Amino acid sequence: MSTSKIPWQELRTLALHATTLSYAPYSHVTVGAAGFTDSGSVVTGSNVENASYGLTLCAECSLVSDLTRQGGGRLVGISVVAGDGQPIAPCGRCRQVLFEHGGKNLIVDDGSDHPERTIADLLPDAFGPDDLDTRSNS
Ligand SMILES: [Zn+2]
Repeated sequence: MSTSKIPWQELRTLALHATTLSYAPYSHVTVGAAGFTDSGSVVTGSNVENASYGLTLCAECSLVSDLTRQGGGRLVGISVVAGDGQPIAPCGRCRQVLFEHGGKNLIVDDGSDHPERTIADLLPDAFGPDDLDTRSNS
């Protein structure tokens, strides 16, 4: 799919709306994410914090749950924003989660007119599902 078909403004609007659905009583940093799939569907997520902190779910994790709930597919573009509407970088765990569901060519919004930054730029030499096939001993 051409990256020019990714509706970045719609994704940014949906991601910002998703920040209003966050559960962030501890950090007060609301985060929303909206992704576009190879079949043209849109998935969203919000961060869900936990009193134990380590069990907090990022907006990207919530988005991948939405992707799976909708029947799966591959992410081709994703916008992640904080409550101020500005892009916020996926954490290390989420970079790995996004790589699993979008592959190295997934475009991660940087707020520019024509985002081109890929998940591979954010997670070079990533370990992924192909490594399980090629490195398995059985
Ligand atoms: Zn994260």
